[in-house]
Amino acid sequence: MRASVLQKIEDIAVEQRPVPEPGPHEVLVRVSAVGTCGSDTHYYERGRIGDFVVREPLILGHEASGTIVALGSEVRDHEVGSRVSLEPGVPCLSCHECRSGRYNLCPDVRFFATPPIDGAFCEYVTLHEQFVYPVPDELSDEAAAMIEPLSVAVWACRKARISPGARVLVTGAGPVGLLAAQTARVFGATEVVITDVTDHRLRTAAELGVTETVNVRHRPLPEVDYEADVLLECSGNPTAATEAVRSVGRAGRVVFVGLGGDELLLPLSHVQTREIEVTGTFRYANTWPTAIALAASGAVELDSLVTHRFELERVPEALTAAARDDTVVKPVVYPQR
Ligand SMILES: [Zn+2]
Ligand SMILES: [Zn+2]
Repeated sequence: MRASVLQKIEDIAVEQRPVPEPGPHEVLVRVSAVGTCGSDTHYYERGRIGDFVVREPLILGHEASGTIVALGSEVRDHEVGSRVSLEPGVPCLSCHECRSGRYNLCPDVRFFATPPIDGAFCEYVTLHEQFVYPVPDELSDEAAAMIEPLSVAVWACRKARISPGARVLVTGAGPVGLLAAQTARVFGATEVVITDVTDHRLRTAAELGVTETVNVRHRPLPEVDYEADVLLECSGNPTAATEAVRSVGRAGRVVFVGLGGDELLLPLSHVQTREIEVTGTFRYANTWPTAIALAASGAVELDSLVTHRFELERVPEALTAAARDDTVVKPVVYPQR
């Protein structure tokens, strides 16, 4: 099979690799579509994210959909030919975190495109049967791949305990911010204000049903005078994050979703005197069925976020597209083309 392999920083080449063999509890999937993610770009440009360092050639890509083409010997609950969305992290299922239902915090999780585990920018992957989810016909291949970033949004909204009538502030109108904003509406938020520094992204957000967009380059958040019950921080920008925390009101919740720097200034007296809860999210757990249902019912729109399409040979372009062009929301790679 063909596989797009990161050899070293800013060096990706298509190679021939053997088609992987599914283990007894795995399925073999022919990959249809793979979204590109900020983390893929980070590995491509810097060769590491925190303690995860690319030491050997690595296949990137973790937002994937495909079709099952073979079953491991023990697989009973899947069929060859079924279209599926892939949950790209397989935890150990036996440690304390896994048994507590927090399998996203499993220290032994094997996650696609996180060194040394290969991802999905290739023609075929194998995956544990429990992390492969059939999708209905109304979901496109792209939408089925974007169940992964939608899962990030669903998990963030659950952590934020968004309930009917909530006022929500979303910082950053990238793919995760746009999905978080839509998901917040579905969870019952009646006001969703989204910020960014790019008018194009904010226009997209407006089309997807947020109630107000703010370009913080021209109108800083303090001037907006908005008090939120929930902040979903999706910008990854420490300055924007600090400012946004000040917009959260009494007994509010702050969830850090974006991947930012290691540290930021927390306005502590604001947090203390209002008893604001502050937490982060790391990936997701038990979100695929919800995310698939939200996408299939049309409650969350995924297809219009796919703005640019690339074949396997053009993965480097796909990974750098967003930095070159602010009309890029989600570039998708098609390994079969
Ligand atoms: Zn991702
Ligand atoms: Zn575990």
